Amino acid sequence: MLSKNDKANRSELHIFQDKSLDFCAVISLKQYGRGPAIGGCRMLSYPTLDAAITDANRLAHAMSYKAAISQLPHDGGKAVIMRSTQHIDHAAILKRFSECVDSLNGRYITTIDSGTSQADMSIIKKYTPYVTGYLEEDLSDNNPSVSTALGIFKGIQAAVKLLDGRDNLAGLHVAIQGVGSVGYFLAKHLYLAGAKLTVCDIDPTRAQRCSEEFNATIVEPSAIYAVFCDVFAPCALGQIINPLTLSQFKTKIIAGAANDQLSSPEIAKQLSQRNILYVPDYLINAGGLIHLSLQQENKNHDIITEHVECIADRILNLAFTARQQQKTLYEMTEIEVERFLGVEADDGHR
Ligand code: NAD
Repeated sequence: MLSKNDKANRSELHIFQDKSLDFCAVISLKQYGRGPAIGGCRMLSYPTLDAAITDANRLAHAMSYKAAISQLPHDGGKAVIMRSTQHIDHAAILKRFSECVDSLNGRYITTIDSGTSQADMSIIKKYTPYVTGYLEEDLSDNNPSVSTALGIFKGIQAAVKLLDGRDNLAGLHVAIQGVGSVGYFLAKHLYLAGAKLTVCDIDPTRAQRCSEEFNATIVEPSAIYAVFCDVFAPCALGQIINPLTLSQFKTKIIAGAANDQLSSPEIAKQLSQRNILYVPDYLINAGGLIHLSLQQENKNHDIITEHVECIADRILNLAFTARQQQKTLYEMTEIEVERFLGVEADDGHR
């Protein structure tokens, strides 16, 4: 059993800088001895190196929890490339990043995240084998975001069943924050299941696409928290459940794709006090990770789908135990994942 004091021993931080390319990347690994760390590479603007490190650390932690609760043979890792303000050579940046990944000799496997694409992973694949989620000519259905969206959809079905005993989503009102890769496919599932949608996105063309294809109502990004709905699905960025947004929610369930949704563990308690069922992010958004992990093991599409759909059973089983022990789903999930990882409560990560 590792204690809090051992935290430093299982965390590894690598910082790579190359002034000639205006390149700075951070790779954070959380090691629990489960297997190679796997996690996406973000390419975003960060105000400072410290901000990039904080993001990488929090997300690596979330990835380790996600892999463990999904029973995958992986530890958690995350890479961040600080997007340069200069005109940069994208291919050269990816090549340099590949060398950083390669230098870790397989202890970290990179993949897509905000700001990187499957095409970027195909470039990285030229320089290191430690990458997954790249484009493959013979695999047209090789998009982890599709699996993430399926997992969220199944998770929402489970959460609705828990709360209302309902087996279908017809007429249910879902508000989706961010309709990019995952949010769009989630909206499609929900629309086909008969749900009513409200969406927002800082990119108006993405929200418009959902309005045209799925009859979604569009609201301003700042108005999405206060939408009266059955389910709020955060599918944009992290830490959006915080003291500023908490009082605005008028939903029964929060269940979505964004990583690291809570600004602190106390917020989970406050959601529960407001009778909002919070489905932990790392429990419900594991579809993409399950997809990438099983693909590494050369599992076929049907097997991957079957495993992704198990997210619903996992939520129902944890909720059942939580009820027996008079705990929230969030508390029960944390207890279970920490049992898998062999750690005591690690309150430094959120
Ligand atoms: P994406 O970049 O394709 O989509 C995010 C969308 O959110 C974009 O359309 C963006 O314009 C929008 N957005 C950003 N800030 C917003 C704001 N303040 N208000 C409204 N909209 C906003 O990313 P994605 O791949 O769809 O992932 C969405 C989230 O889910 C991210 O937090 C990601 O880390 C997480 N996630 C993704 C996957 C996956 O498989 N792609 C897996 C697990 C977790």
